[in-house]
Amino acid sequence: MLVRHVGGNPRDAYDGVVRTEAVGANSAAAPDRTPPAARKSVELDTEQDLRLLLDFLNTCDVETGTELMDDPAGWQQWCAERGLSSAPDTEAAREIRDTMRASVVCGSGSPRNTPPADRTEATGTSASPAWPIRVVLHGGVPVLTGTDAVGSVLAAATRLVTTGHWDRIKICPAENCLWAFYDRSRNRSRTWCSMRVCGNREKARSWRERRTAG
Ligand SMILES: [Zn+2]
Repeated sequence: MLVRHVGGNPRDAYDGVVRTEAVGANSAAAPDRTPPAARKSVELDTEQDLRLLLDFLNTCDVETGTELMDDPAGWQQWCAERGLSSAPDTEAAREIRDTMRASVVCGSGSPRNTPPADRTEATGTSASPAWPIRVVLHGGVPVLTGTDAVGSVLAAATRLVTTGHWDRIKICPAENCLWAFYDRSRNRSRTWCSMRVCGNREKARSWRERRTAG
């Protein structure tokens, strides 16, 4: 089984607090006259979106040499474990994942690869003629939702872009790691997935190199 439970990975050093955010709820001065039902309908669960997106980006793992998209049954189980509708086209899922992985920042610099060309459709394969997402009115409020697991990931990713969280998603630059993580540091300065694992490994490596050179 290729699925790794992210919570147990030492490279996921979550240092933030779990919180939810509500759209339009940042004005302390004005009294909130929104009916409770409508307020609830636009509440964003950023932590849940982050968890889902990072899990998806980390369905390939350089360190363990695993690739979930090579294992259709494992991928279906991944979807089921998260309560998502199955997305049988693993090639489409792989392409969307790799496209997103290529576009996020690697370490503290720029994207690891040149971000791919713009896309208006998921893959162009006959199995995925359009994005598996749609907008539904939830209590009269438009909400982006996925029609399958990949759509749910895309909807979560879109919310994270809109709320400005996307820019803090990074890929660890250690070539034997490349783990996707969320940078919770105050000034977005985090480079490594975990100082305890990759940061220390890198420090030891550069120390050895300096020693050899000197
Ligand atoms: Zn790492």
